[in-house]
Amino acid sequence: MKLAVLTSGGDSAGMNAVVRAVVKAGILQGCETWVVREGYEGLVRGNTGVEQQDPVLPPPPPEVHIKDDNFLKNFRFGDGELLKDGTGDLPTGRTLKGRYIVRVGWDDVRGWITEGGTLIGTARSKSFRTPEGRMAAAYNMIKEGIDALVVCGGDGSLTGADVFRSEWPKIVVSLREQGKITEEQSKLHAHLKIAGLVGSIDNDMSLTDLTIGAPTALHRICESLDNINSTAISHSRAFVVEVMGRHCGWLALLAGLASGADFVFIPESPPETNPWEDEMCAKIQRHRDMGKRKTIVIVAEGAHDKELQPIRADYVKDVLSERLGLDTRVTTLGHTQRGGKPCALDRIWPTLQGIEAVKALLEATPETPSYMIGICENKIARIPLMEAVATTQAATKAIKDKDFAKAMSLRDPEFVDCLEGFFATSGLDKEGRLPKEQRMRVAVMHIGAPAGGMNAATRAITRYCYRMGHTPLAVQNGFLGLLDDNVYQLSWLTVDNWMPRGGSELGTNRTLPDVDLGAIAAKFQQHRIDGLIMIGGFEAFTSLMILEQGRKHYPAFHIPMTHLPATLSNNVPVTQFSLGCDTSLNALLDACDSLKQSAQASRNRVFVVETQGGRCGFLATMGALGSGAVKVYTPETGISLDMLRNDVKFLRRRYELDIKGHNEGRLVIRNEASSHVYTTDVLTKIFKEEGGKLFDSRSASLGHTLQGGVPSPMDRARAVRLSLKCMAFLEEHHEVLRKQQKRQATPDTAAVVTIQGSTVKWVPVNDMIEDADMKNRKGKHGWWEDLNDLVDALVARPQIA
Ligand code: ATP
Repeated sequence: MKLAVLTSGGDSAGMNAVVRAVVKAGILQGCETWVVREGYEGLVRGNTGVEQQDPVLPPPPPEVHIKDDNFLKNFRFGDGELLKDGTGDLPTGRTLKGRYIVRVGWDDVRGWITEGGTLIGTARSKSFRTPEGRMAAAYNMIKEGIDALVVCGGDGSLTGADVFRSEWPKIVVSLREQGKITEEQSKLHAHLKIAGLVGSIDNDMSLTDLTIGAPTALHRICESLDNINSTAISHSRAFVVEVMGRHCGWLALLAGLASGADFVFIPESPPETNPWEDEMCAKIQRHRDMGKRKTIVIVAEGAHDKELQPIRADYVKDVLSERLGLDTRVTTLGHTQRGGKPCALDRIWPTLQGIEAVKALLEATPETPSYMIGICENKIARIPLMEAVATTQAATKAIKDKDFAKAMSLRDPEFVDCLEGFFATSGLDKEGRLPKEQRMRVAVMHIGAPAGGMNAATRAITRYCYRMGHTPLAVQNGFLGLLDDNVYQLSWLTVDNWMPRGGSELGTNRTLPDVDLGAIAAKFQQHRIDGLIMIGGFEAFTSLMILEQGRKHYPAFHIPMTHLPATLSNNVPVTQFSLGCDTSLNALLDACDSLKQSAQASRNRVFVVETQGGRCGFLATMGALGSGAVKVYTPETGISLDMLRNDVKFLRRRYELDIKGHNEGRLVIRNEASSHVYTTDVLTKIFKEEGGKLFDSRSASLGHTLQGGVPSPMDRARAVRLSLKCMAFLEEHHEVLRKQQKRQATPDTAAVVTIQGSTVKWVPVNDMIEDADMKNRKGKHGWWEDLNDLVDALVARPQIA
């Protein structure tokens, strides 16, 4: 199969990861791989050799990131399995002027995973919207023998792909009749296969949980909001920040949630009241009365009121200035949201999606529908493309019809949770919503190592407590702190700026409650704790187990108790994602990018990067996938001498295949507990010794840097969502228990909040034990373990070594 990949519509981070993955997966499957420059426009223009001028489309740069002499034809991998026909079609030293459909090889896409935007160009093509344009596009493809196409773009681009596919058979007949193609060509290319991937920063496509580029755009927005926060506090100012999102408020909502904004305007859920100005001002005034020095309002560019009258940032600013007398500024983030380095999610998911797209193309028949490769329940899924487009358009139509409830129902459940989470944590009910007898004293504790999102979770719990009338109690320094009576009531205002804070504001340590279970029970009684939330990793899980078992002896533990997993190691059993693992993964990728740059700049160098993670290889494996590392060592795989011999052989062979005179930096990622003998230092020395003249080696141990830093927006949003689930759990079980004469908590009232797919599930701590590998302090089965092979596949390891 000859397959081509193009990017179309607005650019988004992660598009390059898609192209890289499609090219690599295509070659591994024995396909010939092509890229189309400038979206559909490139298909229409084809390879005339003549640069066409277009008033809309600027001429493409004379050189793109494709190195002729680096083509696969120059490589002879073992017995040539990788690509039997290695003929590239461009002479060495050529420019790409006038060539839009370009054959690419393995190394042409090297390093693309870290680049923002799209290196093959994107455009909005008027000509492709016309039948003549699509006829030209089909002709240009058939001329090169291509009849399989991966399109990465928004709903417009995917609709275009579907139109193209349905028209294709007729176009082929017509081209044959015109004598433009031979009978053989018309038979060989009678059908077009397409696969779509949604590249869109708005996260506006239905039936997929995330679109490619949306998480990175959210990172950019939150970085800006964090910066705005400090200046807003300094001057006691209000800021109205406009973010992208014409029909979908995902970016605005998630940014509002993750930054702790005061008010958010999104298209799907306009303010309850109309006119809305009173509602907004009343809320913000209440916050100011509490002593807040900053006000942040986020406006999606497509925001409107219930009557669909646009709500503009400038107008919001005037309202805040005139009615509340606030010194208010407007910041429009504009295109800064699109740019920059892709975050971890926009490297790893697009890679998996690109690989799946190639599989879908290989399996496609004229009868199968065109698929969009999306993400459902944290898994890659094939979704009928036009169904997704139709549902997306239905959401847009529901907004136009003012049927906002329907628009919300067409968004994914996480979106709905986030909106509720925003309301629950941004508001302030002075009186508390629950009757007095239902109110609780809720203790919050951080246990184990710090993880991104711990403070955000504590803020959400505190805010929710005030809304409902509960009392939030901070237990400083875990169980040791409790024994020292380090317990105090958190205030609504104290936690206001905790969303972007890394580390642990409450202080954390690894001491378990069995240090003195009786004394701990006494403290529970003394502080009249009605419900407990422990935020942490494996220690928090173990603590919950100990407390549950302690119920046999201590009545004080007959209260609802929860564990909210938060650890960079992501080693809590059952749950797929803990708070903090996204933050640490991003910190790891940032470090890897810098190390690779350094390795490349100086000479051929292999960096051995050591990560934390305990005896769980999650962080190392995902880090290897996201950074394009050539090898990952995890505790699950271990390290043996045979393995190292092969790794050295692979590295030597790989460096031999590189173009002479070009430095190449490569990364090897090693989890800290992969082997007692083959330490990072030993590996580095072996690589250095064996690299000889081909390559050098250095090491970098990232250690505790991976625990620090600003929590990622995803971890913050997840923290809010999960904390509120914890509060609902406490409320539900407290209600049952308080009605009992003698409190007898059942085992299911001590549970862990887990993410399984896109659902949040409660698992009683006792039921978690069968999935726990207590010796190695992790779950028995890591869902990510299979991805280890993918790291090898993406560097053609089996073909090269
Ligand atoms: P974004 O979400 O960034 O706007 P998009 O893919 O929705 O991305 P569009 O401008 O709608 O952006 O579409 C991109 C290109 O896809 C168009 O310029 C056009 O070439 C092609 N296209 C869109 N809709 C169709 C269609 N119905 N028929 C043929 N081609 C189409």
